[in-house]
Amino acid sequence: MTSSFTAETFSALAPYGWDEAWADEFAPYGSQDLLPGRVIRVDRGQCDVATTDGVVRADTAFVTPHDPLRVVCTGDWVVVEPGGNPRYVRAYLPRRTAFVRSTSSKRSEGQILASNVDHAIVAVSLAAELDLGRVERFLALAWESGAQPLVVLTKADLVPDPAALAYLVQDVETTAPGVTVVPVSARDGDGLDVLAAIVAGGTSVLLGQSGAGKSTLANALLGEDVMDVQATRDVDGKGRHTTTTRNLLLLPGGGTLIDTPGLRGVGLWDAESGVGQTFSEIESLAGRCRFQDCAHEAEPGCAVLEAVETGELPVRRLESYRKLLRENERIVAKTDARLRAEIRKEWKRRGAEGRAAMDLKRGRH
Ligand code: GDP
Ligand code: ZN
Repeated sequence: MTSSFTAETFSALAPYGWDEAWADEFAPYGSQDLLPGRVIRVDRGQCDVATTDGVVRADTAFVTPHDPLRVVCTGDWVVVEPGGNPRYVRAYLPRRTAFVRSTSSKRSEGQILASNVDHAIVAVSLAAELDLGRVERFLALAWESGAQPLVVLTKADLVPDPAALAYLVQDVETTAPGVTVVPVSARDGDGLDVLAAIVAGGTSVLLGQSGAGKSTLANALLGEDVMDVQATRDVDGKGRHTTTTRNLLLLPGGGTLIDTPGLRGVGLWDAESGVGQTFSEIESLAGRCRFQDCAHEAEPGCAVLEAVETGELPVRRLESYRKLLRENERIVAKTDARLRAEIRKEWKRRGAEGRAAMDLKRGRH
């Protein structure tokens, strides 16, 4: 790999999130005359890849084994052939994070939806009463993916009283340890700058209930002009994307947004560690229980029940925690253990490596 190639690759792919760690992952392929690129759309065995040669269409036949979690997805960094008809995706670089959902089939199987996501934005509407249980469910999913969750309280213009708004933000903050909570009004523009600054550093996805304001938020971040440009640039020539395709879009303020309708209402899929992170204060209380395998039901010396009694831990939180764990157990019981083990092994390890690489990089600055 020549240094001019490296510089060219950096300037072309940096907007898509290319960094030194990806360059290192790609290095073994560089000498083979292959190109790195990011998958911006997947469509039945084919994908559109942003490369130094612009957006190219590539066939995924080489990298599509029977394992549904190994299928190329939007957000993947891949290695493509420099030409050919069709040109093929030769490999994908190990994922740092990934969103998986259970398919609707009886036997629960994972389906990969998006990868290499840094920020999982959970949109929660202030137009309705806060449903903290629902927020926790989305947070569990977000944590499980390896991405950093962020709660956006949308339609903040509907809560004009600053004190009332502050109270709602605080309510969600106590429900979401380790998570930033940002009130935003797409209507007034309030809070959009805060959100744009956060998403500028990486790849984001929008999660949340239908009607939460995700499309409006996406449009506000993209700017309507950009949305139009993206639509006419559609490689298919079919115009606007349909609900079955997924797209990775460049944000004018920096960063990328993966807007996949399939992701928006995604269900839990073996999110045990995600549930743990969502209820991190309960997990740390559990470390002080007398018995290591304490179920926090009626055991003596249970620090969790003690915290409920003193009011330190809302009983609603404990109940929600139990509910999500039970739900997760049911899903896990239906899921192929091999797939689970494999996906865990792959991206949890890579996630740790990716983060370590990022820390290293930041430390060098
Ligand atoms: P989605 O289903 O999550 O994509 O939600 P939409 O973006 O379609 O928004 C649902 C509804 O909320 C629409 O009627 C929007 O006009 C409205 N909405 C979105 N953002 C705001 C906002 O900031 N303020 C107010 N008042 N309404 C909003
Ligand atoms: Zn206990």
